[in-house]
Amino acid sequence: MNSMSKNKINRKNFIKKTALAVAAGTGILSCKPQSETKEDFPALITQKKYKWKMVTTWPPNFPVLGEACNYFAQWVEEMTGGQITINVYGGGELIPAMECFEAVSGGAAEIGSGASYYWAGRSPATQFFTSVPFGMNAQQMNSWLYAGGGQALWNELYADYNLVPFPAGNTGVQMAGWFNREINTIEDFKGLKMRMPGLGGKVIEKAGGSAVLSAGSEIYTNLERGVIDATEWIGPYHDYKMGFHKIAKYYYAPGWHETGSTLEVFFNKRLFDGLEPRLKAILETAAYRMNAWTLAEFEAKNNEYLQKLIHEENVELRQFSSDVLSQLKEFTNEMLDDITANDTASAKIYKSYDAFHKNIKQWASHSEKPYHNLL
Ligand code: CA
Repeated sequence: MNSMSKNKINRKNFIKKTALAVAAGTGILSCKPQSETKEDFPALITQKKYKWKMVTTWPPNFPVLGEACNYFAQWVEEMTGGQITINVYGGGELIPAMECFEAVSGGAAEIGSGASYYWAGRSPATQFFTSVPFGMNAQQMNSWLYAGGGQALWNELYADYNLVPFPAGNTGVQMAGWFNREINTIEDFKGLKMRMPGLGGKVIEKAGGSAVLSAGSEIYTNLERGVIDATEWIGPYHDYKMGFHKIAKYYYAPGWHETGSTLEVFFNKRLFDGLEPRLKAILETAAYRMNAWTLAEFEAKNNEYLQKLIHEENVELRQFSSDVLSQLKEFTNEMLDDITANDTASAKIYKSYDAFHKNIKQWASHSEKPYHNLL
């Protein structure tokens, strides 16, 4: 007998005993027909309550990303009938944003929310679960994670840190960023100090620029003071709210470096594994809902704010030339060779990612691509 069916039987026995005891104690038993005493009495079961903390890398109530965490807490509370309640903390409210990974790993908080490429310092392989330059889009990332073996690899990687991860949102294709100089050739990246996290930053360095890591809250000041010459952030909705159009002249597309960045929720593994299957299923289901809600929200808002930027703020919208993009792609391939040659976990995960991407790209060339060409 496997452990799952054992658990089921144990739970059934527990439910039956508890229900009978409660029923006998309240005199219900004698009023019920015999057949119903064998049924569950879920409403009468004493349920262990969980009061959990969710630490996030986002500013408090941050549009879409922070809001999604608030919804996650609300959905879990609704689905568990209040058995699990979650307090959501923005970055810096309980702990610094970039300490979520350790806090949840060590059990100081039970749940975390971020993007796996923030944890590249712990393992470079984490980056493949957010985005790879010239990589998969949101729909393809979901396919790889849910149906192509990606989730199992993510679980394996995070298990080493006592964490259980789930996809919990996607930004869709991002924008290439804000520049105060035109980028006409790849040479224009030489000497450019650009804020860009993740694998894309390594590509900027190969192109002769320097990748600067700034937390979201510092980017505006850094760009304004010339600490950086350029920055990427997310897409028109969030970029508008950051006000980059006030201090940068050109807004470039497309976000070659983040073609569909997956966001995450992660749980302390020991605590998650100790939950009964029903509660685990609820948490996983809430993560699915967060994944769908977040992408929908990004896609619904981005064009509205892009139009505001162009028509109300007179932003110059530009697109990288195909030459610039193809050279960035060459540097991407070099960067991926470097990272997979030096890290066995990255090599294993990228092998799966790349095989899945090649396969799904062929399908897209017969489905999405001809369709988009009609638009
Ligand atoms: Ca970004």
